[in-house]
Amino acid sequence: MRLNISGIQGRKGAFFQVKRDLPGDFLNTLPEVGRVLGPVSVELKVTNTGDAYLVTGSFSVDVELRCSRCLDPLRTTLEASCEEEFLKTPEYGDEEDLLEEQYVVEGNELDVTSLIQDSLLISLPMKVVCSPDCPGLCPTCGASLAHGDCGCLPADLDIRLAPLSKLLDLSPQAATPERRKDNGSTQEKTFQGKG
Ligand SMILES: [Zn+2]
Ligand SMILES: [Zn+2]
Repeated sequence: MRLNISGIQGRKGAFFQVKRDLPGDFLNTLPEVGRVLGPVSVELKVTNTGDAYLVTGSFSVDVELRCSRCLDPLRTTLEASCEEEFLKTPEYGDEEDLLEEQYVVEGNELDVTSLIQDSLLISLPMKVVCSPDCPGLCPTCGASLAHGDCGCLPADLDIRLAPLSKLLDLSPQAATPERRKDNGSTQEKTFQGKG
């Protein structure tokens, strides 16, 4: 998106505002983004500060993200804002610290594309979750636990039950060594052995 600034050039303090919808395709490059659901709505104000052009604005776009725990889609609105100066001429420091993030006026235009894109990209939450207590996926079968219990015994529950299962082994029915060897100690087979 390019903005023509000829209307405020040479007039310190002059400004203009724009409101526009832009395609949000660039967001598809992000692994967290499942789908872009609409255009990026852009509101910008450009002010001639004398030395530079100050661009302030806000952006929003509806997207479908994926929960990082259960991979379910969730709809949200990404919102971002910016406050950035466009320099009339590039500024160079000493050869080593050449200023990296620099926006520069191109003739009588400002190219605000990367400003808008960068602002939205950093607005993504570090970790996307459908809800703070999303249980995620079952480590055993991979089913989404948010959709109900898959029936697998959670791995950490096994550890906690280990002392209990030792107690069960000591019960009179399962105490005979030969039985435990040949049947893998399932209850069903213990009963068969008896009858
Ligand atoms: Zn989730
Ligand atoms: Zn499971």
